[in-house]
Amino acid sequence: MRVLLIEDSERLSGALTTGLRQEGFAVDAALDGSVGLELAASGQHDVIILDLGLPLVDGMSILRRLRAAGSTAHVLILTARDAPGDIVAGLDAGADDYMTKPFLWPELRARLNALMRRRFNNKQAQLRAGDLELDPSSRVARVRGEVVSLSAKETAVLEYLLHRKGETARHEEIEAAIYDGESAPESSAVTTIVCRLRKRLENADGAPPVRTVRGVGYRIDEPA
Ligand code: CA
Repeated sequence: MRVLLIEDSERLSGALTTGLRQEGFAVDAALDGSVGLELAASGQHDVIILDLGLPLVDGMSILRRLRAAGSTAHVLILTARDAPGDIVAGLDAGADDYMTKPFLWPELRARLNALMRRRFNNKQAQLRAGDLELDPSSRVARVRGEVVSLSAKETAVLEYLLHRKGETARHEEIEAAIYDGESAPESSAVTTIVCRLRKRLENADGAPPVRTVRGVGYRIDEPA
């Protein structure tokens, strides 16, 4: 899952970037509104965490311009402005969620999880295929209740494939979802991660296979 963070406090931006990366998100960070708008226009992000008070271009202008341009990214406004009028204006301008600072990490994480479910039209809190389930909050995968030990990147790929269960995820879509600009991967990186993920799942009795769609990408299907 790829997140764009538009936040001008270097300290908060650094802390959020580190925290989100540890949880397996790919994160691009912009410290002003102009860079933020440019990165957002690339259309590569599942979720945009948007501050309102920003240098160069303010958050509300970014949001209006993105929506006017047809952006479908899910936008979570994260701001110190807590007046009801600000919240109404943000949501009316096309934000999907609005959260005020100071905030608690678990709440931000839960709201991001909810936005991911909406993005992929998934109503279930747990991501599942057959006897395999992944809890997006704890990022623990289990097969028939037994924990499957996965690296952060393996978990990120599994999460993406489960969100898109029954569809083929293209190689470049997976790459865009799990890598950000600061950790440009080797061209074979996704293949390597999928191979390791597949081996770990094969060792867990009852897990559905990660299928290769030759020349396209990978998929996990609900077992028949
Ligand atoms: Ca600010």
